[in-house]
Amino acid sequence: MTIFQKMILVPVFSLFLYGSFITYSFFEHQQSNKKIQAVRDSYIPVLEILNNNIHLFEQLSDTFKDTVLARESLWLVDALALKKELENNFVELEKFPHIIKIKQLNTIKNDFNHYYLHADTLAKDLLKEHATIHSEQNTIEDVEHYLHLSENHFQKIKYTVQNQFISTINNTTEVMNKLLFWGGIIAVSSVLLLVIVSFLLSLSTKSSFNSIIERTKLLASGDIDFSKRLVRVQQDELGVLIYWFNKLSDKLESDYLKLQTLSITDKLTQLNNRTRTDQFLPSAIENAKKHKQPLIFIIIDIDHFKKVNDTHGHLVGDDVLIMFATILKDSAKSGDYVSRWGGEEFVLVWQNLHFEPAVEKANDIRNMIADSHFPVVGKVTASIGLTVLTEQDDIEDLISRADKNLYQAKEDGRNRVVADS
Ligand code: GH3
Ligand code: MG
Ligand code: MG
Repeated sequence: MTIFQKMILVPVFSLFLYGSFITYSFFEHQQSNKKIQAVRDSYIPVLEILNNNIHLFEQLSDTFKDTVLARESLWLVDALALKKELENNFVELEKFPHIIKIKQLNTIKNDFNHYYLHADTLAKDLLKEHATIHSEQNTIEDVEHYLHLSENHFQKIKYTVQNQFISTINNTTEVMNKLLFWGGIIAVSSVLLLVIVSFLLSLSTKSSFNSIIERTKLLASGDIDFSKRLVRVQQDELGVLIYWFNKLSDKLESDYLKLQTLSITDKLTQLNNRTRTDQFLPSAIENAKKHKQPLIFIIIDIDHFKKVNDTHGHLVGDDVLIMFATILKDSAKSGDYVSRWGGEEFVLVWQNLHFEPAVEKANDIRNMIADSHFPVVGKVTASIGLTVLTEQDDIEDLISRADKNLYQAKEDGRNRVVADS
């Protein structure tokens, strides 16, 4: 994942969270609006009608009582009018079956009709002069029974609707509170998440950048320990940067090693060159002295090499030098040092080999050269100046003694080894 993707992840996630929340809130809000609308359109008119019914019913029962007490039959007309009004209300209530069930309404209507019939009959009976006590007594009980029944029903239904009304309001308020609560939770957690992720991201980015800066500083200041590599932890742009930085280190290392080899190798013979010998010799002398081991220093010079060039040309001379170097290389044991000193002169250093076997070995090499067949020129010989390191020697002493021995070998007729006397 790229740094950009990581950085954009949390805002996108928060946006998604908010988007879902807003959609959810929108639908909940619609629902709540509908509920409030329903309260406004249904519950309030229903409650008004129910209150009106209770009031009308009280009026009706009072009218019956007044009719009997005043013995005034005309008032029964008022009672009938009240009954009609109540019945109209029942018709109105039928329009709200989701609030008042039709079955419930029918029970109330039934009980009310019973009440009205019995009360009306009783009132009419009482107004008649020939009404019997017995029949009055039964009817009074019936009237009272249905009066209570109807009163109870009216009150009960009113409370039921009132309770529904209150619970609807409570539900709506609860939903609104929930929305507010979850909105807060989402907002706070989004901010927290954003802070945590940003912190972790900047921490890991910072440490990766620091490691790149530190390594770059070291390389810039000339550190050649190329084995140090940056660890690629992330797969983001920083990971890519680290990957290419390590590739750059690989390239620098291989170029450095190539240049280093090139700088200490003789181009024509591929042997160690003078630069390498200048580095090698002091440490070899120091090591031999320290461990009290013998060290043999040899200079080999091809005899009459100028003639080769003069007779066959420089290219043939070069080929002779290459083959000469190959013979020296092949005769070397592990630990033997072989190098081109310059021109047609070569230097050998043998560590931990004593004088006599060294002279013998030098003669073997000289014979090997003399016995070899060189391209175009055929026979080639070489003179060897050999010396062994003494306790007091420095580099110059060693070289000049070997040089002197070589000069002596030339003087003595060439193709020979001259060692310390
Ligand atoms: P001596 O037996 O006394 O050593 O005689 P020499 O001819 O070998 O010695 P001299 O110093 O007179 O000649 C060395 C020659 O080596 C001279 C030079 O042209 C030749 N030479 C030096 N370097 C190279 C090289 O890289 N390639 C070729 N072809 N010749 C070289
Ligand atoms: Mg020479
Ligand atoms: Mg020579």
